[in-house]
Amino acid sequence: MTGTEPLVLIVEDEPQMRRFLRACLHSQGYRLLEASTGAEAVLLATSHNPELVLLDLGLPDEDGVELTRRFREWSHVPIIVISARGREEDKVSALDAGADDYLTKPFGTSELMARMRVALRRTQTGEALPSTLVFGTLRIDFGRREVTRDGQLVHLTPIEYKLLALLAQNAGKVLTHRQILKEVWGPAQTNQPHYVRVHMAELRKKIEADPARPRLLITEPGVGYRLREQDH
Ligand code: CA
Repeated sequence: MTGTEPLVLIVEDEPQMRRFLRACLHSQGYRLLEASTGAEAVLLATSHNPELVLLDLGLPDEDGVELTRRFREWSHVPIIVISARGREEDKVSALDAGADDYLTKPFGTSELMARMRVALRRTQTGEALPSTLVFGTLRIDFGRREVTRDGQLVHLTPIEYKLLALLAQNAGKVLTHRQILKEVWGPAQTNQPHYVRVHMAELRKKIEADPARPRLLITEPGVGYRLREQDH
């Protein structure tokens, strides 16, 4: 990276968690802002314009989901939600409200760094998407609407292609059932999660070496799906 490292806003009321995040981010050279309440977070975000927000869902003054919604009224800053284990509905609500990703406590430094890189890269690359994406042996040519695996053409239905294209263009990012339904089937179909399950299963049979143990198309239990990024 050149010159100044990204400015990250940490919104977290637990001192221990803040210390952990501070240590992780400092060691990687990120610049930091810290808030322990929703009100402080909004104040810091509006005055300093951070490039990424790490947001704890359980804040003393405001619900993190509500705060995400408020941020989205005026900001596209990537938001990674940090939540306690077992609160799937909260994570899904936060993602549907516009958060980019989530981490479940406790999590390690490398996981945090990987998620941050994905979120930051998405904003830095802007709107222009590459015409071809490669994930291991899978290659997606968006111009030709063509998918190959090990050089062999993969025959996908229009729905399967739309699903794969959506996940590939958001590689590394979790997409909720609702987000997938809205993008692929349209806003009227967001209460049909079985559509997603059925078509994901078909898609896996075509793109995974072992569909029972997917390495690419990952299920995020209770939340949605993520296309795993390959190491470059
Ligand atoms: Ca908390």
